Order: sequence, then structure tokens, then C-alpha cells
Amino acid sequence: MFKTLIVKCLSDNYTYVCYNENNEAFVVDPSEASPVIDCLEKNNLKLKYILNTHHHFDHVGGNYELKEKYKCSIVGSEKDKDRIPGIDIHLREGDKWHFGDIESEIFEISGHTVGHIAFYFNREKSVFTGDTLFSLGCGRLFEGTPKMMWESLKKIRDLPDETKIYCGHEYTLSNAKFIYSILPSDELKGKINELENLYSKNLSSIPSTIQEEKKLNIFLQADNNQISEALGLIEKSPENVFTHIRNLKDNF
Ligand SMILES: [Zn+2]
Repeated sequence: MFKTLIVKCLSDNYTYVCYNENNEAFVVDPSEASPVIDCLEKNNLKLKYILNTHHHFDHVGGNYELKEKYKCSIVGSEKDKDRIPGIDIHLREGDKWHFGDIESEIFEISGHTVGHIAFYFNREKSVFTGDTLFSLGCGRLFEGTPKMMWESLKKIRDLPDETKIYCGHEYTLSNAKFIYSILPSDELKGKINELENLYSKNLSSIPSTIQEEKKLNIFLQADNNQISEALGLIEKSPENVFTHIRNLKDNF
């Protein structure tokens, strides 16, 4: 098993430091090195690996400095082997990555970028989704197609309900307001109040869970007839409904 620490980076990025009982650690998506170094030193941890979900600068910005300082190895997608700084270990769909007796399964989840991956830890009931699935939202389509993103989101949605979701950014409140703007409900209103209260205390909304996201995240509901009807998109395919929702969000 491992414990997960949330490290806030840049303006709204999340980096995660995970460590085992021997104080050996891996870090997911280090946006920048210094907050990660502070976290490692404060908790007396030895950094062994950097895991990158995708190549964007706000997920790999700390790679070189951390690798230099800790002599750790960098893990990422085979498809991003020319774009992830300092990458050592290349992974594909279905591969297993091991950290001692801790095992992670790799899902290719293209859409935000081509070559985006998720790290799923079955025993620890945790998934690191980068900029593909956010709490109440999903990433913009910078490189992939809506079809790719929809398939990727379904792959994550199929994980067990209790799985904790660790994503790349704190966008939850603005995502909740977006959903409320197109499909208002008392449940969402309550969620918005809850998030405003959390933010006023400088607290994080992460991790979410698959169960919570299936209930409220509209991007996971593009194949729900009630949602497509409410949006006036009767008889449209889930991909079309997803594309429509993503376009609305891009212009929100
Ligand atoms: Zn990104």
C-alpha cells in the first residue's frame, strides 16, 4: 500500500507524492521541482520514480531537476518517448508498472493529448487521470478527437465505484458552475455551496471518486438519454452529445 500527499503547484496544478512504509516515494506529474522537494524533505522521503501522465509543461516541468537531484527514473507513455523530458521507462496500454509490491495498470486515454496515460492502482483503489478526467469535468481536446476522448472517459468510468480519482488541476468549482448553467439541479447547487466553502478554507476538492463522478460529471453521461433529451439532442450518438457538451464548455 502507499499513502498519497497532495502538493499544490503553479496556480492550480496538482502533483502527487506517494510513498510506501520504507519512505520510498514516487511523484505523479511534477509541475515544478521546489514544492516537491519541500514535500519530500518535510516527510523524510526518498524519491525513486517520476510518473508522467502526459507531456505538457505543467506536468513535466520538474522532471530534470528532480532526476538530477534524486537520480530517480522517469516513467511515461511509449507514444510520448520523444516529448517527455528525461523519460527512461516506456509503457503501453495494459502494461503493469511495479513499485516494490505495488502494482499499477496502464490505460492509454488519448484525447487531451495523443499518448496521455492513466496509472490505475487496483489494490490502493486509486487512479491518476492527469488532464483527461477532472472532478466534474474533462480536459480540452488539444490533440485528439472527441471520439478518442469519449472512449478514454468510458474506460475510466468502468473502474470500480470506490476508486479515488487524482486529477491534474483544481477546476471543480468552475466545472460545477458550467454544469449548473446548462442543467441546473438542487444537487449541483448543494455541490457548488460545498465547494465554495472548501475553497474559502483553502482546501482541495480532490480526490473525487468514480461513484461521485458518475452521478454529477456531465461528460461521463453523454450516453444517458435523459441528458441528451435535456440538451435537445434526441437520437444523437454519445459522441455527438459529448462533442456538443465539450464545445459548450470551451465557450463557457
Ligand atoms: Zn495537459
